[in-house]
Amino acid sequence: MFKPLNMDKEEDKKASESTEAEKVKCLIIGSGPAGYTAAVYAARANLNPVLYEGLQPGGQLTTTTEVENYPGYPEGVTGPVMMEDFKKQAERFGTDVRWGMATKADLSGDTHKVWIDDSKLIEAETLIIATGATAKYLGLDDEKKYAGGGVSACATCDGFFYKGKDVAVVGGGDTACEESLYLSGLCNKVYMIVRRDVLRASRVMADRVKNTPNIEILWKHQVKGLFGEDNVVEGANLVKNLGEENEEEVKINVSGFFLGIGHKPNSDIFKEYIEMDNVGYINTIPGSSKTNIPGVFASGDVMDSYYRQAVTAAGSGCKAAMDAEKYLSEKNA
Ligand code: NDP
Repeated sequence: MFKPLNMDKEEDKKASESTEAEKVKCLIIGSGPAGYTAAVYAARANLNPVLYEGLQPGGQLTTTTEVENYPGYPEGVTGPVMMEDFKKQAERFGTDVRWGMATKADLSGDTHKVWIDDSKLIEAETLIIATGATAKYLGLDDEKKYAGGGVSACATCDGFFYKGKDVAVVGGGDTACEESLYLSGLCNKVYMIVRRDVLRASRVMADRVKNTPNIEILWKHQVKGLFGEDNVVEGANLVKNLGEENEEEVKINVSGFFLGIGHKPNSDIFKEYIEMDNVGYINTIPGSSKTNIPGVFASGDVMDSYYRQAVTAAGSGCKAAMDAEKYLSEKNA
């Protein structure tokens, strides 16, 4: 989601040399529950936050259907509606919410430089990174070949196109279960392709999947490739019991192929400066949102590889804004 600059390209070089900086007290990057909650708190603390929404305004929740586990919505709420509520609340207190994607950062100085869309330079006294995580792909050439022709990482965005058809979902976690359940309400049949003989998903989700008649779980299956004509998916080639004596090739006919195998944190542009784990999740000082750089804070899925819930992301956004406020008041005391 966050594209690093390529210094061999003239336009990128020019962007990185841009000197007309807009100075802000608090810059928030990301518009999921973490970013917007940070914005609500920062705005109410008079930090005049500027928030850039990134490529996917509203974050990952805009690709989810019903959110049933966010406190305050007893009847449940759809992801997009919930994120619109978050945004309105942030704007109500004066957050400057802007379109744009952070494409480069220089965190070596006293203020923190971030370039937006390879051109606009912002210099922030405090920076809150709430860039979230992006869906992972298997890495097959066919995923690229059939992109836009049946391959998707978002059932709620694209499921509609497969109404009444047969589809497949790869993965055995909560994401894959959620995608499968959503698709089961639209499609004729859903194959869930699971590489082990157990689901990683929570019990309640796993049970729902197992009790849905038009979902068939293909245990111990892995995807070798896709097939189709004119770059439109018609099916997938799988292998069952890979590496075992009874290994066998399996072919399924599907029109849609959905990925539900997890996410990658959107932290690439900060990796030169910020300490992260080997996957790219930002390390924060336990119990806080502080990174190794004073004045730079991280919240939400970009620093949380474990809980990854809207409510925990929101809580960590709150922490980040409070930490930013404290940092500024101590600095300016
Ligand atoms: P997870 O990491 O939990 O699960 C990923 C799944 O994909 C696993 O079954 C994994 O298999 C499988 N997988 C990974 N790589 C491959 C591969 N290369 N080939 C085949 N299969 C693969 O990710 P999720 O996105 O499902 O969930 C992330 C977090 O978000 C979790 O904490 C989850 O609870 C939460 N979540 C909650 C939701 C809710 O409450 N409504 C909805 C969605 C997510 P294996 O098990 O073998 O490693």
